[in-house]
Amino acid sequence: MGDENREMMRQMVREFVEKQVCPHVMEWDEAQVFPVDTFKAMGQLGLMGVLVPEEYGGAGLGYDEYVDVIVEVARVCGSVGLSLAAHNSLCSGHILAFGNDEQKQRWLPKLATAEWIGAWALTEANTGSDALRMGTAAVLDGDEYVVNGAKNWITHGKSGDIAVVMVRTGEKARSHGVSALVIKKGTPGFTHGKKENKLGMRASETTELIFDNCRVPRENLLGEEGDGFRQAMKVLDGGRISIAALALGIAKGALAAATKYAKERHQFGQPIANFQGISFKLADMATEVEAAELLIRQACALKNRGEDVTKNSAMAKYYASEVAVRCATEAVQIFGGYGYTKDFPVEKYYRDSKLCTIGEGTSEIQKLVIAREVLK
Ligand SMILES: Cc1cc2nc3c(=O)[nH]c(=O)nc-3n(C[C@H](O)[C@H](O)[C@H](O)COP(=O)(O)OP(=O)(O)OC[C@H]3O[C@@H](n4cnc5c(N)ncnc54)[C@H](O)[C@@H]3O)c2cc1C
Repeated sequence: MGDENREMMRQMVREFVEKQVCPHVMEWDEAQVFPVDTFKAMGQLGLMGVLVPEEYGGAGLGYDEYVDVIVEVARVCGSVGLSLAAHNSLCSGHILAFGNDEQKQRWLPKLATAEWIGAWALTEANTGSDALRMGTAAVLDGDEYVVNGAKNWITHGKSGDIAVVMVRTGEKARSHGVSALVIKKGTPGFTHGKKENKLGMRASETTELIFDNCRVPRENLLGEEGDGFRQAMKVLDGGRISIAALALGIAKGALAAATKYAKERHQFGQPIANFQGISFKLADMATEVEAAELLIRQACALKNRGEDVTKNSAMAKYYASEVAVRCATEAVQIFGGYGYTKDFPVEKYYRDSKLCTIGEGTSEIQKLVIAREVLK
């Protein structure tokens, strides 16, 4: 997409978010409402199938445009940004990368328009960073897998219409012992459990998934049996770019709010921006935001060219998410007491930003991935 069209798309997303998201951000946050209708309206704009090729009903755009969309959304509402990232990168991204043509035709057009909301389930109560030791198991019985177990922390666990679920089909804790199954809502034996009451990202729904003798057609297996863990790691390579973009959006939102406030708020007879103690905070924040964006754009370029992105997406995600937390923290400081209230947006950036250092692999796990690549 050319620069002019990209700017037009950013403008379109910005206007939508200003009108349809901004007025409701705190109401959704406080009530922990996942705004399904807004999500579907974003689907009508093509924002739920940004990377999905046009032949499967998507917008067929590249990673830079995808990052643009998430940043525009996240600078106003991290929760909607997180949901958008999980739907696009994880659920649709997994089917797009590893589904066969029939599977892509069957599921992607509905996901790309948000007629269906997508979920992706790897994590369990006892296995987060160490996902390979998952307990949820699927046993082949005729032409169906019988799935038993539970997944935790699943974005769209309740409202999702379809989920890509990583299950154990072989030996425990062996990478070739995991497979990826697509499971439709309403399949007997598939229900959702507890919804998490979270610190931040409260308008993004996070719940448990429960499988009790849930029978899934064998034709819902993505790729080969036993290839699910490798697939999940590849999906996360792309997904981490989206969490980095989410973090960048939050950091940009926090920086913009703090800059405006520093020019407006007077103490000792002058704007607080005149104090070096404040302006240097803004300088650090602005520098880190630009550095984070460069790392993200580098990962996008590699991804667009189809090159390996494991190290670069981990670097982008690690750095951008830590920057989001630092920027949000400093923004609260610049707002002083007002920053500690719900009357200004920075307390929400502060709460939401923390998810970015945890979801899709913690900062420690990103360092582990980066170190492994560096030491190769
Ligand atoms: C809002 C939200 C949405 C989520 N959405 C999804 C989703 O849609 N799908 C999904 O599958 N999962 C999802 N997750 C789960 C998320 O990916 C996990 O929470 C994350 O991977 C960390 O796992 P854990 O919470 O079990 O932490 P743990 O793995 O228990 O980690 C605890 C601490 O130990 C550290 N640690 C662990 N192992 C090491 C190590 N080897 N070296 C150094 N430090 C280590 C971690 O960095 C962390 O600080 C979501 C989580 C949240 C909070």
